[in-house]
Amino acid sequence: MAAQPGVLVLNAGMEPLHRVTLQHAVRMLVRKVAVVHEAATGKIGPYERPRVLRLVRYVAMGWAYARTGYGPVSKQAVRRRDGACAYCGGPPDTVDHVQPKSRGGASSWLNLVGACVPCNQFKADRTPEEAGMTLLITPYDPTLRRAA
Ligand SMILES: [Zn+2]
Repeated sequence: MAAQPGVLVLNAGMEPLHRVTLQHAVRMLVRKVAVVHEAATGKIGPYERPRVLRLVRYVAMGWAYARTGYGPVSKQAVRRRDGACAYCGGPPDTVDHVQPKSRGGASSWLNLVGACVPCNQFKADRTPEEAGMTLLITPYDPTLRRAA
């Protein structure tokens, strides 16, 4: 397994934000702004050695969004990201929850895709598989910079 350097920081809403050094991660634990979400083996002082941290409070990462031009996930932002209906390539009049909201699907970058009204209505509360629909677009989080 290729270990990624540093510690991943999740926002309080569980979205990945960025990576920090282990030293920085420990300072965040000391300041109690974050908790260990996933621990690696070993301890650092009184703390579990963190692999993933989660912020205690939700932080609006304006600086991160400014770099990508995308703000928090919204219907408008998903339509802009995809630029088309994910099922037929038509105009993205609205958005669709790939895993239906009524069945626990999140309103997240990874579960929302652009959709036209006919596709959205046809799919309704079904998964793409159940509806016999193929996703032409793989949803992704456009606010994250690609890891080098
Ligand atoms: Zn469509």
